[in-house]
Amino acid sequence: MIPPNISFSAALLVAGLVCFMGGLIISQTRHSALGAVPLTILMFSFSWWDITYGLFWAKAPAPYPNFWLYVTYLGVVVIPPAALVFAMQFSELTEWVKAPLLIGLSVVPLFVLILMATDAYHNLFFGGHTTENIGIISNAGPVFWANTIYSYILILISMIVFIRRFRQATGIYRKQLGVIIIGLGFPWINSIIFLSGFSPFPNADNTPFSFTLTGLAFTYALLRYRLLDVLPVARSALIENMNDGVVVLDAQNRLVDFNPAAIRTLKLAQPPEVGYSAEEIFSNWPKLIEAFAKVDDLRAEIFLDLPAAYLDLSLTPLYDERKNLLGRLIVWRDITPLKAAQAELREQAIRDPLTGLYNRRYLDETLERELARALRQHYPLSAVMIDIDRFKQVNDTLGHAEGDLILRSFAKLLIRHTRTEDTIYRYGGEEFLVLLPNSSCEDALKVAEKWRSAFQEAHAADPAKPIHATVSCGVAEFPADAKTGAELLALADKALYRAKETGRNRVVTWNNIYE
Ligand code: GH3
Ligand code: MG
Ligand code: MG
Repeated sequence: MIPPNISFSAALLVAGLVCFMGGLIISQTRHSALGAVPLTILMFSFSWWDITYGLFWAKAPAPYPNFWLYVTYLGVVVIPPAALVFAMQFSELTEWVKAPLLIGLSVVPLFVLILMATDAYHNLFFGGHTTENIGIISNAGPVFWANTIYSYILILISMIVFIRRFRQATGIYRKQLGVIIIGLGFPWINSIIFLSGFSPFPNADNTPFSFTLTGLAFTYALLRYRLLDVLPVARSALIENMNDGVVVLDAQNRLVDFNPAAIRTLKLAQPPEVGYSAEEIFSNWPKLIEAFAKVDDLRAEIFLDLPAAYLDLSLTPLYDERKNLLGRLIVWRDITPLKAAQAELREQAIRDPLTGLYNRRYLDETLERELARALRQHYPLSAVMIDIDRFKQVNDTLGHAEGDLILRSFAKLLIRHTRTEDTIYRYGGEEFLVLLPNSSCEDALKVAEKWRSAFQEAHAADPAKPIHATVSCGVAEFPADAKTGAELLALADKALYRAKETGRNRVVTWNNIYE
């Protein structure tokens, strides 16, 4: 019978109390943190081990001498599986932590405890070495050793899980994992000291102390670096609530994840099925599939027909640390309203607000293009410059507002009497220009004559307004008369001037002036 060791016992009881408090704090304040449940179990198991072992060394009253030593095992067997589950949850390997694993991990401890309790019948646990003069179970049977090795294997796996995670982690997460890994190192250091014979108390087991240090390190990591538990929640909430569509595909282009915004953009009646190929799910949007198939980074604007939507889409390939392609992350923003606003602005920039015709700025943009096309396709292009006659008088007699109406009605008249390929510009105050592709000077003369007479008749037909609004037109042809855009406009203008000079209300072609 070994004598009581009160100071060793006291140290154990203090350690046990500390672990108990740690477990209590975690379960009360951090229950939503990653791995909080297994960590709480772990802390209470440490505490159990410390306290029962402390009671053993205090020689607390017991039914039989090794009672307190043996009941430490109720805590001891729980520690390795709890540590492993903590490692997995903390490293976000939560898909592993399911019923089969938990049941599997519970079987061995139960089995060991049963064999320990029934050792008297088979000696498999203690191997017939149950002396009363021990403070540590070391000279024992096959089940004891098998369990010891099994326990260290689980701890080793936990260590590997943490280290893997540590290598991927950055910043504060890396520090947190560093603390955890150091914590898990204490039992190993303790075992090395014990096996090498340098233990300060060769007759006693210091393992509970080393695990207490582990528990403290874990608790510190969880309490000190608080933010980790918000991260997964925040991240999933962010993706769920984002206005941007998010789609994740695996390396085989199968759908892995998507968010509600993605469903909204595509106006899907029901959420797509995870696991199906992107080609199948997005078969209505060949442009999307085309984009999804890209392996490299991609940033593109994509137009979908049904529903009509412009997407500003970016694709990021996802690689593991060995640079193997894991899948693709696709994020898009629905820029349809933006595009509509842009188109609206563009319209405003190129249109004259009074008549709705193109303005001079748009003429500058398009004239060269029209001429180039005429050259390319070998057809003549004619320009008709039109100016309303004596418009100052119209304004003076009828007022400016009435003048505006006349400008508008003339614009409408031009629209009515032109082909879709013709372009009409409000060139100046009451000056208009019409470009007629694939029309010779003679063709243009005929249409311009039609505009002139139609305008005259429209106003003559209104007896309420006794005005004689007429127009004069000048026509020139490209490339027969003019070689450049500027020249074309200048010649049409000269022809118009001639029309004014010779009495107004007429159409003059440039090549007629010198006939
Ligand atoms: P002409 O036959 O020689 O062309 O005589 P005109 O009176 O039309 O002479 P001019 O081209 O010099 O005058 C153009 C007038 O058109 C001057 C201006 O008051 C008027 N005008 C220009 N822009 C507008 C407009 O937007 N609305 C109205 N109501 N009048 C305009
Ligand atoms: Mg004028
Ligand atoms: Mg005029």
